[in-house]
Amino acid sequence: MTKKAKGPTPTLISCSNGTPKIVIAKKTSPCSRCKKPISMNERCVDLRKLTTSFTSTRRLCIACFLQTIEKTKADILKIEKEIIKGS
Ligand SMILES: [Zn+2]
Repeated sequence: MTKKAKGPTPTLISCSNGTPKIVIAKKTSPCSRCKKPISMNERCVDLRKLTTSFTSTRRLCIACFLQTIEKTKADILKIEKEIIKGS
């Protein structure tokens, strides 16, 4: 008999690298990965990582964020395949 899971389904994104949030840049600031400046009013993504003592934010340009999504998908598919193979 399986126990019913309690609470919301956890997501890997929110607990490892911070929750991504699409924002409109209020001022020009560099992308934390490729260092390309993100202009004011340009769309970018903030990754907020919550730790016990402080909140750190990484700002990524759309191109870097899309690469991050691709990498995340590849990593998740790899783990998923391993789990299915082993069951
Ligand atoms: Zn970038």
